[in-house]
Amino acid sequence: MIWDTHAHLDDPLYSEDFEEVAARMKSAGISRVTNVGCDLPSSERSVQLAQEYDFIYAAIGIHPHYAKGATDETWAKLLLLAKQPKVLAWGEIGLDYYRDLSPRSIQKQIFIQQIMLANEAGLPIVIHERDAHQAVLEIVKAHPPKSGGVFHCYSGSWEMAKVLMNLGFYLSFAGPVTYKNARQTVEVAGHAPIDRILVETDSPYLTPEPRRGKRNEPTYVREIVKKIAEIKNLPFEDAALQTMRNAEIIFNTRHKV
Ligand SMILES: [Zn+2]
Repeated sequence: MIWDTHAHLDDPLYSEDFEEVAARMKSAGISRVTNVGCDLPSSERSVQLAQEYDFIYAAIGIHPHYAKGATDETWAKLLLLAKQPKVLAWGEIGLDYYRDLSPRSIQKQIFIQQIMLANEAGLPIVIHERDAHQAVLEIVKAHPPKSGGVFHCYSGSWEMAKVLMNLGFYLSFAGPVTYKNARQTVEVAGHAPIDRILVETDSPYLTPEPRRGKRNEPTYVREIVKKIAEIKNLPFEDAALQTMRNAEIIFNTRHKV
C-alpha cells in the first residue's frame, strides 16, 4: 500500500499506454495516486480521472506558470470542481522564480488568492516552489492555510522545513531525494519526523534513480519509499504504511472518500 501523492497522469505522454501504466502500478502495490492540476483544463481532467478510476484522487488549482491567465471565471469553475467527490486538495499553487513564466507580482497575488479559496473550500493546499523559498514562506506565514498543506518536492533547508511543519505542512519527497547531489534534501528527510513525510513521483517528471532521464510513472514511487526507509532506518513496508497514513490525514480521506 503506497500513495503517490503527486502525479500528472493527464499528461499526453500517457495517452498511448495509460492502462498499462495503471496495471503496472497496481501490481507494484501503488494503491492511490493524487492527480494534480496545473491550469483549468488539467484540473478538470484530474476530476474526470478521479471519477473514472477508483485509485485516482484529484487536486485542482492554477500553477504559478499560468497565474497570468487566471480570471474570475477560472475561480468560479475551480470552486465548483472543489465540491466534486474525490477532490482532496487545492494545488498545485505557489511561486516559480526559476522559469518566471508569469510576472512575480501576479504569481504572488494568485497564490494568496488561491490560499483563500482553498480555505473557503475547506481543502489543504499543494505548494510548488522554485527559487522562491523566502517569498513563499512570507506568504504562508501571512496567509496560513486553514486545512494545512503539502510542500511538493521539498528542496528547502531544514530551518524552513521546521517553520512549515509548525504551520501544519507535510513535506513531500520526489525523485531528487534519490539523486547523488541531494545532500540537503536527504538531510531534511533525516531530521523530519516520519509522520510528516509524504512520497510522490511528480510523473512524468523527476524520474528517480536508477531510471533518471526517462519518463516517470507512479510505480517508481517505490524508489522514493526505499530511499526514505534507508534514511530512516526502517523496513520498506513501515515507510510505505506510515507515508500512506500521513497522506490519509492531510487529505482528510476518512471523511471524504
Ligand atoms: Zn507537479
